[in-house]
Amino acid sequence: MLLNVQEKTLLLIKPDGVARGLDKEIVARVKNVGLKVERQEKFRLTEKSAADLYSPHLGKKFYAGLLKFITSGHLIACVVAGENAIASVRELMGATDPREAAAGTIRGDFKAENMFTSDGTIKNIAHGSDSLESAEREIAIFFGRIK
Ligand code: UDP
Ligand code: MG
Repeated sequence: MLLNVQEKTLLLIKPDGVARGLDKEIVARVKNVGLKVERQEKFRLTEKSAADLYSPHLGKKFYAGLLKFITSGHLIACVVAGENAIASVRELMGATDPREAAAGTIRGDFKAENMFTSDGTIKNIAHGSDSLESAEREIAIFFGRIK
């Protein structure tokens, strides 16, 4: 059972989502489930910040392609707050592979016909922190240490 805890999480609208103009729709979905968007800002990630963000994936076969993709254009970073914000944003996003993401989820509803970059990275529109620890670490990369 989920406890009703107030949390903050990092939601990213990745370069493919920004390029396709999906930011308003995604933010609307977040607000519709009662979560609050406390910060929202456009960024272009440096190589170093991208490596920080995805440091848990260092050494995996998709790591280099992922860094290339996440630095390929602007992204929109949001601090989302509310009850069970971490799990709720993950639920709104759906499965990592858009082909497996359920209808009604962001990745399921907006999956592109060509969802792979030239080196095989999955372009899946959004990112959401996967734990309290990740959320704190990831929010700090974009917004510094916030309360
Ligand atoms: N990714 C990929 N191929 C894979 C696994 C992941 O291209 O086999 C990319 C994809 O963009 C994903 C990101 O790497 O969103 C981070 O992977 P993770 O397993 O953390 O998935 P997420 O938490 O984003 O659902
Ligand atoms: Mg992840």
